[in-house]
Amino acid sequence: MKVPFVDLYAQYLGIKAEIDSAIAEVIAQSAFIRGKHVDAFEQAWAGALKVKHSISCANGTDALYIAMRGLGLRPGDEVITTAHSWIATSETITQAGGRVVFCDTQEGTFNIDPCLIEAKISKATVGIIPVDPSGQAADMDGIMAIAKKYNLWVIEDCAQAHLATYKGRFVGTFGNAATFSFYPGKNLGAYGDAGCIVTNDDTLADWTATFARHGGKGEHVMEGINSRMDGLQAAILNVKLPHLPAWTTARRRVAARYNELLNGIENLATPKVGDDRNHVYHLYVVATDKRDSLKKTLADSEITTSLNYPKALPFYPAYAYLGHKPTDFPAAYRNQSRIISLPIFPEMTDEMIEYVADQTRHALGDGSAVRSKMPKLAKV
Ligand SMILES: *Cc1c(COP(=O)(O)O)cnc(C)c1O
Repeated sequence: MKVPFVDLYAQYLGIKAEIDSAIAEVIAQSAFIRGKHVDAFEQAWAGALKVKHSISCANGTDALYIAMRGLGLRPGDEVITTAHSWIATSETITQAGGRVVFCDTQEGTFNIDPCLIEAKISKATVGIIPVDPSGQAADMDGIMAIAKKYNLWVIEDCAQAHLATYKGRFVGTFGNAATFSFYPGKNLGAYGDAGCIVTNDDTLADWTATFARHGGKGEHVMEGINSRMDGLQAAILNVKLPHLPAWTTARRRVAARYNELLNGIENLATPKVGDDRNHVYHLYVVATDKRDSLKKTLADSEITTSLNYPKALPFYPAYAYLGHKPTDFPAAYRNQSRIISLPIFPEMTDEMIEYVADQTRHALGDGSAVRSKMPKLAKV
């Protein structure tokens, strides 16, 4: 059996008629850049999260950059972010003129550790960017309390966490602003690049929308950038959004089945979910000391896995100038060589999940008879 890491074509086949007609409509209307499909998606996404404004842009990286500019980042300002994320989270701090200050993660959840943030605050600190890695909310109470105490802004990088919740509230609704990516492989993905900023702040919404569209249409009130969402991407997202809750449920069901099947394997840690959080499993990340051999055995069994991410950010050449040592970020440093993301996508069949779990058990030398047969999950 072959198990891909994600299967975007399988998802397309499930909604083919809707997608094909949405694409045909955009072409018939020549509604290629912004326009009514984009307006409709901005409204629908804000409505889904129960936030006031959703400002579309070209991708999730731009969303971070635009939000930081909108919050008035000035050269030399310091922004604290997690040591273990995709580089978009930190590179945009530099791009916006700021200085990157990394903070270590919690070993079990890979989230920024709020207990360590305070020690990173200096006179130059202006904001915090927590990430919801893999689809699990960061500790928002802890982070917001520090932000309040020191008068810092918070931008939530929710690129991996569409519809994830913390204490019953959607991520993206806690900070001054939040950013989402609709990169094809994300939980809500377009057929190309797309992203957005969400906020309840009217002034910030207005500024970011103006900045992202050349500083205003007709009257340029300032110099801006060109960061727009395509009509095609918005039309595709409009078709997909109503399916997102069911796809999220399906992801959670795959994760629950993995948890059952992988339970009790010595040397393997399944995902740890924090209190009061609804994990949306953009990724299903396990950790083991035998990571490299597990990855190889799974590849030999035609199972595609991924490492998210193989190095914590401070240890890439891009950040060599900060001069960090492994002991500066012990949790992230330990995790980077232990984590591996197993395939997870809403259309995964029970046979695929069992196959991945069996091969994982086998690779880790766990000879115990494959667990008693569980009742089959309905096909998604
Ligand atoms: C995907 C991702 C981004 C960037 O999104 P793009 O749309 O690819 O620019 C930012 N942060 C995190 C954590 C991501 O996973």
